[in-house]
Amino acid sequence: FAHSPRLETGIAMGSDDIVNRVTLPRRKRLPRYRDFLWSGFIATGCVFLIRTLGLLQLTELSTFDRFIQSRPPELPDDRIVIVGFSEADFRSLGTSQITDQTMANLLTQIRAQKPRVIGLDLYRNLATPPGHAELLEVFKTTPNLIGIEKVINSGEGEAVAGNSVLVENDRVAASDVIVDVDGRVRRGFLVPNPDQPRVLESLSLRIALEYLAVQGIKPEPNESILRLRQTSFPRFEGHHSGYHNADAGGYQILLNLRGRRGTFPVIEARKVLSGEIPANLFRDRIVMIGDLSVGASDIFFTSYNSASGERVEAMSGVELHANLASQIISAVLDRRPLIKTAPEWLKWSAIAALAFLSARINGWHWNYRYKIGLTLGLIAAIVGSCYGALLFGWWLPVIPSVLTVAIAAMIRTISDLKQLTTLSNQDGLTQLANRRAFDDIFHREWSRALRSQTPLGLILCDVDFFKSYNDTYGHLKGDDCLRKVAIALQQSVKRSTDLVARYGGEEFVILLPNTDTYGTLKVAKIIQSKIQELQIVHSGSQVSPFVTISLGASNFLPSLTDAPQTLIDVADAGLYEAKQKGRNQVVLKLP
Ligand code: GH3
Ligand code: MG
Ligand code: MG
Repeated sequence: FAHSPRLETGIAMGSDDIVNRVTLPRRKRLPRYRDFLWSGFIATGCVFLIRTLGLLQLTELSTFDRFIQSRPPELPDDRIVIVGFSEADFRSLGTSQITDQTMANLLTQIRAQKPRVIGLDLYRNLATPPGHAELLEVFKTTPNLIGIEKVINSGEGEAVAGNSVLVENDRVAASDVIVDVDGRVRRGFLVPNPDQPRVLESLSLRIALEYLAVQGIKPEPNESILRLRQTSFPRFEGHHSGYHNADAGGYQILLNLRGRRGTFPVIEARKVLSGEIPANLFRDRIVMIGDLSVGASDIFFTSYNSASGERVEAMSGVELHANLASQIISAVLDRRPLIKTAPEWLKWSAIAALAFLSARINGWHWNYRYKIGLTLGLIAAIVGSCYGALLFGWWLPVIPSVLTVAIAAMIRTISDLKQLTTLSNQDGLTQLANRRAFDDIFHREWSRALRSQTPLGLILCDVDFFKSYNDTYGHLKGDDCLRKVAIALQQSVKRSTDLVARYGGEEFVILLPNTDTYGTLKVAKIIQSKIQELQIVHSGSQVSPFVTISLGASNFLPSLTDAPQTLIDVADAGLYEAKQKGRNQVVLKLP
């Protein structure tokens, strides 16, 4: 079988390993752009659907956290100092409550060093004697002190009023914090209630504004979003980045934390009270005062917390406010990046582009190792770029992109396999079914005919004097001749169940299910005359000036006692007889 279909296609059938090692020449491939488009569209559509159902949110958020955690550490912001009440402070005070007297003393100590702003992240709406009058006096006489109230009355806690003296002097800000579905804080309020009659800035924003005002930086008036100098603060929307239908109430921005708990210098309150602090520690800085004890009610998990969420790793509210204040100030003064997200249309265009890229590169090679390698390479590039982008503040859709690439690769591979199956059943020279496909179909049809007790016709044919055709005109002409013969054979059968296959070399087989002896003979005659009508000149033939074929036909009603091979053997005997009798004729043989 020097010219067996195996070698013609370049595909060796049966062994996966061999199949995988073979690259098809370009012209042998089916129109691949259809597979390519199909894979790309389906993959993008799938991910869009999954995303729209919100199924990716938790994975996307925790991927963001991983990225945040693995960022290189940042320099601390030395504009901010936290004065905190720790467990040790409460122990040394001998009470779990900070009395008004203690608070008044603390503030007096702090303001003596002339800080730029003092943020008091503790509710002082209720009198905690002794020393209430003194505290109110300190409040009145400290114009750079900002207190808090809780604005939003929600499941996370009731609203809490601010201290009346601070409220009267317009020196309260909102302490509200917004928590994600997974219990982590990744966003912060600039203004929690912009639509209310009494609009309050968040503590962070208020502190930042007070700080910047000293340097003459004020928000641009009449803008729908906050703009300080060149820096705009994009408003968070519920579907941004990894989020799905998140509560986007108020004016929120995404947090760009400086680090885990303990990024800002913390001075314990008792040291301030006892005057043990260096001179000028607070001068011209922001001093944030809050409860740092583990038992405090405002303790939050952030991107820095591990999944197990150790409470001691959590960040206290005051640190969270300090982070956001620092984020706002350093965005304006140091051009430190905010966390930004790409617009939806751009995001989905990029994801679709990646899907098509994945479908494209997966069509380069049949080898699954190449496919896996290229796909993993692409995924690694995506993850790497998204991580790199986050270093510049861009939160890009890692998970949807990776998922799309994987799905596109999968669909492309499946469609490749389908095509490979087609190719492995096809003869490369004539595009007819090959021997392997014939064997499969023949056995299937045999069983069917046996079950339904219908006759099965089979014709074997062989080109006459083909050796001499090759010798006279050359192998390429010989191939051409076989192609023409194949087309003629295909045109001679009419039913969709009829099968024409290349049996080997210049031998062909025609299987005619549900066809009786008369029909089989008729088809054989049609074939014989069709080939003659082709008028392919063949000077080496001893029977005709043109190419002719000899045919052996047989017909059977299959029974359980017959082997399928008998049908072929009988037809082969007919073919042999046709050759013996002088070629270019049909011999019908019946068992
Ligand atoms: P006969 O009339 O007895 O059939 O004489 P023949 O010369 O055709 O004898 P045979 O059937 O044994 O010839 C087989 C030849 O067919 C051998 C080989 O040169 C030629 N052949 C088989 N496959 C191919 C093919 O794929 N391409 C070409 N060009 N020639 C082929
Ligand atoms: Mg021959
Ligand atoms: Mg032959």
